[in-house]
This record gives sequence, structure tokens and C-alpha cells, in this order.
Amino acid sequence: MEEIGHFINGQRVAGKSGRAADVFNPATGEVTAKVALATTAELQEAVAIAEKAQVGWAKTNPQRRARVMMKFVSLLHRDMDKLASKLSAEHGKTFPDAKGDVIRGLEVAEFCIGAPHMMKGEFTEGAGPGIDMYSMRQPLGVVAGITPFNFPAMIPMWKFCVAIAAGNSFILKPSERNPSVPMMLAELMQEAGLPDGVLNVINGDKEAVDAILDDPIIQAVGFVGSTAIAEYVYTRGTASGKRVQCFGGAKNHMLIMPDADLDQAADALVGAGFGAAGERCMAISVAVPVGQETADRLIEKLIPRVEALKVGPYTAGDDVDFGPVITPQARDRILGLVNSGVEQGAKLVVDGRGFKLQGYENGNFVGPCLFDNATKDMDIYKEEIFGPVLTVVRAENYEEALSLPMDHEYGNGTAIFTRDGDTARDFASRINIGMVGINVPIPVPLAYHTFGGWKRSGFGDLNQHGPDGFKFYTRTKTVTSRWPSGVKEGAEFSIPTMG
Ligand code: NAD
Repeated sequence: MEEIGHFINGQRVAGKSGRAADVFNPATGEVTAKVALATTAELQEAVAIAEKAQVGWAKTNPQRRARVMMKFVSLLHRDMDKLASKLSAEHGKTFPDAKGDVIRGLEVAEFCIGAPHMMKGEFTEGAGPGIDMYSMRQPLGVVAGITPFNFPAMIPMWKFCVAIAAGNSFILKPSERNPSVPMMLAELMQEAGLPDGVLNVINGDKEAVDAILDDPIIQAVGFVGSTAIAEYVYTRGTASGKRVQCFGGAKNHMLIMPDADLDQAADALVGAGFGAAGERCMAISVAVPVGQETADRLIEKLIPRVEALKVGPYTAGDDVDFGPVITPQARDRILGLVNSGVEQGAKLVVDGRGFKLQGYENGNFVGPCLFDNATKDMDIYKEEIFGPVLTVVRAENYEEALSLPMDHEYGNGTAIFTRDGDTARDFASRINIGMVGINVPIPVPLAYHTFGGWKRSGFGDLNQHGPDGFKFYTRTKTVTSRWPSGVKEGAEFSIPTMG
């Protein structure tokens, strides 16, 4: 049985707590490894090492730091298949989808090759008589990232690439469900030339998270996960004086206007609703067709597409559209919510509850489920299901459709399918949601833009990656400088103005 410890000071080390969690293959239910769960003392040891390492790393010029990212990108390409198959084995997503997980992280590493440009400050010559004013961005010191199970490559890279390129050292606390890929990423950063102690991976659960939140040396924490924990991390982290940004759960609506290409919309819904078994924070989980006729035509197109979805283990290759969900508890929760939808009066037009796969009886599989005629008061509408369940809520007109995502507590992503530019423009302008797609079902911004939700999908300020990422992991210092050229004036007692 493989034992996964931590990655501290440039190498793998065994855990010392005596506590460990099982890591499963979600397709088979087999335990494939044990991951150590760190104590507060182990976290503090890693932080002390990171603090020392950061001094030299911050002094390394930004171009040299960027070269580490450059090498890291080439190593990710070299090990792509190895990373993706490990990711599939511990997460359950298909092999091409696992590669996508690595690639969307790699793109952030590529963006970070431009760190010298992002770190440039501002300069005003002659801000006053003989006075120049300039600002510089400086790293914070030791910073941390706490990440979820659903993107074990991409989300750690969103965090550590930016923070490290900016000159910080980093403590990564990945999900205990799939710790192998984050450990492999740390080894690749080391191989790319990162000095020992700049990137450390501490595996663990609540104890390690609380230790990060309370640690006086850690200056900033970036979190991604469920909303309840996001709020907890935000509250506790800010109470201890840290800069904190937390990204939480989602309920992403897609509006389908009567003029939309309904085949395109149906294909988009099936991919965005069921890809990765619906375990994406940008999954579309609610479809809102506008008008009864649009709804009837859409449902007619959706049913055969959903019924044809192929569910299975990643090892079955192209024969599979999506895999198992992460744990038996997640499966039971999803099935419980589907049952509640039926009890509360929604029409389950495709029922995946009884799905079984021969040879994989212990896997956490849930067949695809499609609801029609759901309403706002139902649990399947209010809660994030995070499973292969698509819910159709019919709206009579555009204003009613728009009010659904507007009034929902989550505000991560949304989309509209229409051929009418005016409607699309109105939607993009008025919607109170962080990421908007126009005829694009999963509008995940690219690395050089920024990612972040509104309302209860995001706590704190600034988005992830892109220019905001650099702002989050740096602080600004502004210098006002005068060289008096030998002219000596008397002491000045009133506040200087530049007028
Ligand atoms: P989770 O909240 O259970 O776990 C996230 C992290 O918090 C993990 O590292 C975990 O170890 C830690 N954690 C869990 N319980 C804790 C506790 N009681 N105290 C302290 N730390 C704790 O989330 P998950 O199930 O791994 O991920 C799925 C969730 O993440 C979904 O809600 C999804 O929408 C969300 N998500 C959001 C985004 C985004 O950018 N908004 C992106 C991906 C996933």
C-alpha cells in the first residue's frame, strides 16, 4: 500500500501524526493509497522552512523566477499522460478530461512566464519639484492555498504558479481525496529548478487547514471548495489578520431563448451538465428554456442525448462520457436529492438512479438524471447537487428567466443561448454573476483573464489568476523620492503638497 506523506524542503517526507486517510479509486471502490494527515506542528515546521527559503527566492530576479515556470511547462508536457492517468485513477474523470485539468493549470504556468511584466511598478517623474514617485509590487512572504478534489491539477496551479512567480514561498494543502497529482506537481517544480522549501505540500484535513488559518507567519490564503467551508475559512483567516480569498459552490443557469439553435443548445447542455459527472463548479445544472414551446422542443432533444450518455471507468477510454462521483457519500447525497425532486413534484424524465455496471459494483456510479418542470422552491433547485443531474425550470418570458439566476444565492457562472445580440448584451450587462457565456456553456476565463464568482460563490476581493492573481499575492509600496542637489532648505512643518 502506497503511503503518501508531505513534500517539504524539496523532498517527500513521511507524516508523523499517526493519522491517515484512505485514497480510493472511485470506479472500483478500492483503496489505492493512504495519505498522511498533518498536525499543527508539522504545518509549522513547513512554514518555518518556507519562511527561510522565501528570502533568497524573493531576491532572485523575476526573469530567473520566470525561467523556472518555463521549464515547469515543458516538464508538464513531458509527463502529461502520467499525470492525467493518476488524476483519472484518483478522481474518476475520463482521461481526456483529466488532461484538460492539467492543461488548464499549465496555461496559468505559461501566463506566469510573464511575471516580470506583471511585477513592474509605476513611475512618475517630476511629481513635484525635484520629486519622483514610484510604486513597486513586493511578495507577501509565505502564502498558502487550500484546494478541492474536483480539479486536483488545475486549481493548485492557479494558486502556486502565480504566488511563486511573484516571489512568495507557498504551502499547498490539497484535497485529501486525491493528493497524488499535487505531490507530482511539486516534484516537477523542483526538477524545474525551484529552490528547496519554496513550494511545500502539506496533506491533511481540518487540523491542517485550521493550523494554516491561525499561523502568524502565513500572510495570505487562497481557498477553493464548498461554500460552507469557504465562508469558514474566510471568517477565521481574516480574523487572524490575513488576506483571504475564498471561492465556493455554484448553481449555474443556462437560458435558452426561443431563437436559439436548439440542437446546439441541447449539445451544450449535455456536455456542460454531465461532463466530469457534473462535479465542476462551472457545470450547468439548471436549464431555463423561455416559452413553453421552446421548453417542449428542448426536452424532446435532450431526452435521447441524455439517455445515450455512456457512464464508466476512465480505463474504458473513448467509450465513456463521464465516470463515477468521488465518494459513496457523494453518490448517496446525489441520489437523496434526486429522490427529493421526485417527492417534491418535479418530473424525472431520465432516471439514472438504478445505474449499475457489471464488474464495477463497488464504484460510485450515478446514471444521468434529467428533471423537467422543476420549481424554485425545490431542493434540487436550491442546492448545489454536484452530480450528473440536469434540472429544467421553465420560464414564460425573458424577464422571468433572468430573475432565476439573479435571485439565486450562488453567482459563479451562467450562460445564454440566443441569436439576438441585443438580448445577449442585456443579459451580460444586468446579470449579477461573475462569469457569463454567450452561446458558450462553460465560460471559464483563460489564464490571462481572471476567474471568480459573485454572491455566495466568492468571499473576499480579487479573482484568481490573471492580473488579479498577482495583485492578491503581492502588495504595493509607493516611494516618494527627492534628491536635493545640494540645496539645503530649512525644516518643513506642514504636510507637503505637490501643487
Ligand atoms: P470541500 O469544501 O469539502 O473541501 C475543500 C478543501 O477544504 C479541501 O482541501 C478540504 O480538505 C478542506 N476542508 C473540508 N472540510 C473542512 C473543514 N470542516 N474545515 C476545514 N477545511 C475543510 O470541497 P470539495 O468537495 O473538495 O470540492 C467541491 C466544491 O468546491 C463544490 O462546492 C464546488 O462548487 C467547489 N468549487 C468551486 C470552485 C470555484 O472556483 N468557485 C472551483 C472548484 C470547485
